[in-house]
Amino acid sequence: MRILLVEDDSMLGDALCRSLTQDGFVVDWAQNAEDAELSLSSVVYGLVLLDLGLPDKEGLEFLSDQRSAANPIPIIILTARDAVVDRIAGLDTGADDYLVKPFDPDELSARIRALQRRQAGRFSPLIEHGSLVINPAIREVYRNGERIWLTAKEYALLAALIERPGTLLSKASIEERLYGWGDEVESNAVEVHIHNLRKKLGHGIIRTVRGVGYIIEEPS
Ligand code: CA
Repeated sequence: MRILLVEDDSMLGDALCRSLTQDGFVVDWAQNAEDAELSLSSVVYGLVLLDLGLPDKEGLEFLSDQRSAANPIPIIILTARDAVVDRIAGLDTGADDYLVKPFDPDELSARIRALQRRQAGRFSPLIEHGSLVINPAIREVYRNGERIWLTAKEYALLAALIERPGTLLSKASIEERLYGWGDEVESNAVEVHIHNLRKKLGHGIIRTVRGVGYIIEEPS
């Protein structure tokens, strides 16, 4: 999943980028509200992490603008303001969750996964699809009980397709999910990942819709 981090503190932003990337997320980092708004208008993100004290705009105003514009993206507020009234205001302005600094990066990743589950309408922490079982918390994939070893990009691609079976993803939207700003992307990168995934998972799982994209059908 590709995440937009909106945080003006460079040390914290740096640390979050590192820990989230380690946990398999693709992160773009905006250091003010203007850059964040520009990013949101050009990239489809899976989630926003929002600091409340930004240099050019109050985080709450940013949040309220997104909700007024009917942007349904999940937003988690990250802030040092631990007063109860701030937490309530954040949630009531449209945030989906709230973490008070300092927090453990592992807790943040777990909250992101919980939001992903809710977004996908999934209740189980495991994703099961036919002979495949995926555990997003530890990014492990099993087929008929046997562990399958995937690269980070292969895993991210499989997760994107299998989280909402029956949803067709274009090559462009897969690229957008797998690569952040500044990542070098070969023009055939997605095809190569698909090819390798099929070699590892078997050929019946990911279907190519010629000229349109890729799909994992709903389990029968
Ligand atoms: Ca700040």
